[in-house]
Amino acid sequence: MQIQNYEDTARLAAIIDSSQDAIISKNFDGTINSWNAGAEAIFGFSAVEAINQNISIIIPPEYLDKEKEIIKKVKNGEQIKRYETVRRKKNGEQILIDLSISPIRDANNNIIGASKIARDITELRKADETQAMLAAIVNSSDDAIISKNFDGIITSWNVSAVKLFGYTAQEAVGKHISLIIPKDHLDEEAEIIRNIRAGNKIDHIETVRVRKDGTEINISLTVSPIKNKYGKVVGASKIARDITERSRIELQKKLYTKRLQELNTNKDEFMAMASHELKTPLTVIKASLQVLETRMQLDPNVALLQTSVRQANKLSKLIEDLLDASKIQAGKMVLNKSHFQLDQLINDVITYLRPLSQQHNIVCKEPPEPITLLADKNRIEQVLVNILSNAIKYTPNAGDIIIHTVQEQDLVTVSILDSGIGIPQEDLKDIFSRFYRVGGLPTTFAGSGIGLYIAAEIIQRHEGKIWAESTLGTGSTFHFQIKSH
Ligand code: ADP
Repeated sequence: MQIQNYEDTARLAAIIDSSQDAIISKNFDGTINSWNAGAEAIFGFSAVEAINQNISIIIPPEYLDKEKEIIKKVKNGEQIKRYETVRRKKNGEQILIDLSISPIRDANNNIIGASKIARDITELRKADETQAMLAAIVNSSDDAIISKNFDGIITSWNVSAVKLFGYTAQEAVGKHISLIIPKDHLDEEAEIIRNIRAGNKIDHIETVRVRKDGTEINISLTVSPIKNKYGKVVGASKIARDITERSRIELQKKLYTKRLQELNTNKDEFMAMASHELKTPLTVIKASLQVLETRMQLDPNVALLQTSVRQANKLSKLIEDLLDASKIQAGKMVLNKSHFQLDQLINDVITYLRPLSQQHNIVCKEPPEPITLLADKNRIEQVLVNILSNAIKYTPNAGDIIIHTVQEQDLVTVSILDSGIGIPQEDLKDIFSRFYRVGGLPTTFAGSGIGLYIAAEIIQRHEGKIWAESTLGTGSTFHFQIKSH
């Protein structure tokens, strides 16, 4: 530009001063002779501080030689455009700048100095690096990452998308996303777009897509809105993960679970049916044996008959237990509640069980006041029989068995303490489970692992609690607690 007059000069000065780029001029000996507001902002030196100083105040020493080389070219009339180099701010911080240098000529066209326009590109480069890193992450991801605009046109397609869908980036970018959507899933895409337009993210929906070769794949899809720098949604990014294998395993798991449930129901039904069918003939056998026993009191073979009666009773109890377990499994255990005296029931149970063991010392600590319960008497009796017969069975050396009953307001707690073999701590949480027995018990402790399961179920049906404490080799205490009404 040819500078014509004072006005032109003033306009030029205003432009220079309002520029955000640093515009500097200097002599060939390096003396700075102009320094605009942009230079002040970028390098931190004010014009007063910079003018008449040597340009080396902003050049790190290791860049001085390079600077000399460039200045030589400018001296020869060359213009240097957009050259990236490093400069130093007043506070010593180094910055990356984009520099253009032009020769300054006097009226006779002699080159008398250089003008420099510098732009701080440190942030720009950092942003470039971040972008490059993000691109690398996207490309190294195992998930297919795709972006598309609102017209459904694919705008990017990473390496895993190539692997998953079989289309190269060249084949996919620019095409409509329906390229990979099966026909019967096209509605889904419209719904996704509606959500994305509203700025919502779609997290892990399981759906189906189609590969280039026509095969379908189960994918888990996350779709997020892409926003421009003003926060406006301009498209969507999709992350797709192949879950074909997972879906196959899940389907198989469901089938197995269904099959297991069927087998379990069959087994429960069979158990209920078998127990029921066994019960009738056994009742007849028991009754006949009992009649014979009374008739043969003086017969030398009566002992054999007594053994048969005992075993028939055991068998009968086992069948009753199995029937109860089936009822519990089928959710068919019903309670028939009535008022009864608990202390009386406990004494009856002790009398009933006494023949099991003459040696054990069974002590019932009577409560100060008789306790009346509103509960299912037969079922509570069953709980007492199961816990007390265990106490007898698992206290082989005929120790003490103590029964405590305590009432606190409307809560009644019964505790049955034995001095038997005890239960390992790790088994305590399981002993109320169906068919659970502590491992490694000597064969003398015969059992089925149903008694405590039934007891726990009865107490739970009464909305109460049942639990046990034990010390191995010393004894166990079983407690149950229910409301009195
Ligand atoms: P089982 O017919 O085997 O006795 P239960 O359901 O009544 O079945 O008890 C489950 C398991 O809990 C028993 O096999 C035994 O290992 C343990 N157990 C129950 N009561 C006692 C007790 N008083 N002392 C020691 N172990 C016990």
